[in-house]
Amino acid sequence: MEKAKYLILGAGPSGLTLGRKLLDKGEKDFIILEKEDTVGGLCRSETVDGKPLDIGGGHFLDVRRPLVCEFVFRFLEEKEWNSFDRDSRIRVHGTEINHPFEANIWQLPKEYQDKYLDSIQKAGCNTGVEKPSLFTEWIRWKLGDEIADNYMLPYNSKMFSDTLDELGTYWLEKLPNVSYEDTLRSCKEHRMFGSQPGHAQFYYPKEYGYGEAFIRIADSMKENVFTGVSVTEINLDTRIVTCGDGRAFQAETIITTIPWDCVKLTGISDEFAGAVSSLKHSAVEIRYVDEDPETPAHWVYVPDANTPYHRILCRCNFCPDSKGYWVETVKKRTAKYVGSKWEKNYAYMNEYAYPLNTIDKPQKIRLILDEAREKGVIGLGRWGEHEHYNSDVVMERAMKLADELMD
Ligand SMILES: Cc1cc2nc3c(=O)[nH]c(=O)nc-3n(C[C@H](O)[C@H](O)[C@H](O)COP(=O)(O)OP(=O)(O)OC[C@H]3O[C@@H](n4cnc5c(N)ncnc54)[C@H](O)[C@@H]3O)c2cc1C
Repeated sequence: MEKAKYLILGAGPSGLTLGRKLLDKGEKDFIILEKEDTVGGLCRSETVDGKPLDIGGGHFLDVRRPLVCEFVFRFLEEKEWNSFDRDSRIRVHGTEINHPFEANIWQLPKEYQDKYLDSIQKAGCNTGVEKPSLFTEWIRWKLGDEIADNYMLPYNSKMFSDTLDELGTYWLEKLPNVSYEDTLRSCKEHRMFGSQPGHAQFYYPKEYGYGEAFIRIADSMKENVFTGVSVTEINLDTRIVTCGDGRAFQAETIITTIPWDCVKLTGISDEFAGAVSSLKHSAVEIRYVDEDPETPAHWVYVPDANTPYHRILCRCNFCPDSKGYWVETVKKRTAKYVGSKWEKNYAYMNEYAYPLNTIDKPQKIRLILDEAREKGVIGLGRWGEHEHYNSDVVMERAMKLADELMD
């Protein structure tokens, strides 16, 4: 049995940031266990067709958290990144308009503008209807039937694998807020009004994929990071972790960034077990395409139900001297590539890509996190907290947890 003060499960951005911050504060007694042979989690990159490709989807570093950027730049210096103003588009009505849709309908032909404006004006949020609690109804209530039918519902159906009726609305407040008045004004003045979505400005490495930053963070604490070690069981009573290779570790505190439902959990209540089995996620495949996309955008959302993928990442528009693009497709829809001209292209399946925001998730995850913490096991990051956190958010949360643990 190997022992450590802190045992960190998973070497994605959250596990690595926590480890590095503990070390910065003088704490050396920690071990990070990672099942893959390389670190970085969903933020890993591979070289495909001579240039980087982010195998967990398109990954950009948002500028909004300066402390996080400062931390990352310690390992991959700021001068090694390009910065961009976001150009993301939605493919609709045979053309592309910028995202968010409701702020950019002025880019559509006039007859479409009138139709969308009329529909937004009649949306429930503008006519005094009470806010609904189901996802599909909320979308109609907030954005009107036209945006719901032509973009939001088909797109989200693709992205969340037809689970829309299971989703709650508590997480939608973070969508850009564009009022009817903002949309009307943007149609008159031909520029967008209302709040901007995330990644309005972002960084992407000049020579590498996003994953390089995490390889460098891990390299700075080589003795503490064990790759190729898959956790198979966590006993929350004894804080003993068992791994696929037969090794066992015991810690005073375990910090888990891996999905709760991917291992055997022992020493837990029946309610805890029930809550874990209620957590849902979607799997997303990344597939490379060796052609240049006909768009200047960094990425494009594709709501069309007949196209298997839901998003295109235009590598040639953010990765210098590269060509081609990659597409993101929910697992269920990847069968459509069998027998197609893309069948043999480079592809990588992320079994855990999006935690699903099901209606009862907030209560279930609260129960899990509270009971686990009482036993010295802390959930952190996208999977430890089962939240749609981006990498900058999980790094910020890991930094705060390091402060808390060391104080
Ligand atoms: C399609 C897509 C696009 C995204 N775009 C962006 C973006 O542009 N910008 C951004 O900042 N964020 C983006 N994100 C989010 C980003 O990927 C996550 O915020 C980030 O990876 C979360 O880090 P984490 O360490 O919490 O989890 P993860 O990155 O998932 O890391 C968890 C680690 O645990 C390991 N693990 C799992 N099971 C075990 C086990 N049994 N034993 C040992 N180890 C295990 C995994 O291999 C992994 O390394 C995107 C995500 C997706 C899916």
